[in-house]
Amino acid sequence: MSDGGQGFSTRAIHAGQEPDPLTGAVAVPIYQTSTYKQDGVGGLRSGYEYSRSANPTRTALEQALAALEGGVRGLAFASGLAAEDTLLRTVCRPGDHVLLPDDAYGGTFRLVARVLANWGLEYTAVPLGDLDAVRAALRANTRVIWCETPTNPLLGIADIAGLAAIASAAGAKLVVDNTFASPYLQQPLSLGADVVVHSTTKYLGGHSDVVGGALVTGDLTLGEELAFHQNAMGAVAGPFDAWLVLRGIKTLGVRMDRHCANARAVVDLLLGHPAVGRVLYPGLPTHPGHAIAAAQMRDFGGMISFTLRGGEEAALKVCELVQLFTLGESLGGVESLIEHPGRMTHASVAGSALEVPPDLVRLSVGIEDVDDLIADLSSALA
Ligand SMILES: *Cc1c(COP(=O)(O)O)cnc(C)c1O
Repeated sequence: MSDGGQGFSTRAIHAGQEPDPLTGAVAVPIYQTSTYKQDGVGGLRSGYEYSRSANPTRTALEQALAALEGGVRGLAFASGLAAEDTLLRTVCRPGDHVLLPDDAYGGTFRLVARVLANWGLEYTAVPLGDLDAVRAALRANTRVIWCETPTNPLLGIADIAGLAAIASAAGAKLVVDNTFASPYLQQPLSLGADVVVHSTTKYLGGHSDVVGGALVTGDLTLGEELAFHQNAMGAVAGPFDAWLVLRGIKTLGVRMDRHCANARAVVDLLLGHPAVGRVLYPGLPTHPGHAIAAAQMRDFGGMISFTLRGGEEAALKVCELVQLFTLGESLGGVESLIEHPGRMTHASVAGSALEVPPDLVRLSVGIEDVDDLIADLSSALA
């Protein structure tokens, strides 16, 4: 698809989403069908034969995703982890090796360490912010360098272009999980990544009402291989879920601007607060990845983590005292969320190299009126 050099939000609203040819419907219809009438044996009307293989609502989403990431092929899945599983079992074979960030998303770590390891995949967890450590961890059978930036929940930053150079010299693929940044803030394919992964559950969907995943690549051959596996493995996004993500995407740009602005105001509150220890946010000049983040991101996102001087007990207390921030897992929705990674999202990595500090709290700053967010956090911290 051609984006005609259009801006991000124009593509978000129009790419893959021409008015319905039959009725003129401006919103892409939810094609809630499993199969399609054939005009004679093998005579497909529009290329659709069965909705695992392809469905028009999903196609619209897949084209929009490709346009937003600057890729040539987008694929929509039932969840972020379904997308990851399909990707890893497309590009790797048993006996291959992958490098994972040492603070990878817990579900990604569990998929590799507890599921794909049984299938024969080898892995090493490395600090991706340290390119020498990445080079040192490469093996002859390294097929994938898996990058998250910013990372979850420590908001570490990795140099996508630097990792792309290492991956291509090693004959490996660079995969970037772009869930935290969203394509509005960061375009990994343009920095040399081979594949972008999303949990569309988060910022792309944006309304905490759908679970979904996506892959986007700039390589047509790889895109075909991924599409073959998407159909063969079958973990596709259903039409209604695809439609919800498509609707969310239309406002991604305006939502992200507000998420970023609100996050900056919350960071200002936390920085001066006596109850708060460290504030982890890539927009801070003191953040070790700040210069790279400033170069490869449009803005610094809506995620913030911070530690409490009062330790784990104080961290748990803040999570319970907030009223407007909702205590819950997930992120990237319009409503602000708070969570305790050590006991919630990252409980499954306790005791591993990915264990997170017990005094850590993570915020997904929503798009409510910022004064209300500040008032809520201030009183919970008091
Ligand atoms: C949520 C998340 C995933 C997994 O996506 P699901 O849609 O929950 O399967 C992967 N990576 C990151 C960074 C996430 O936040």
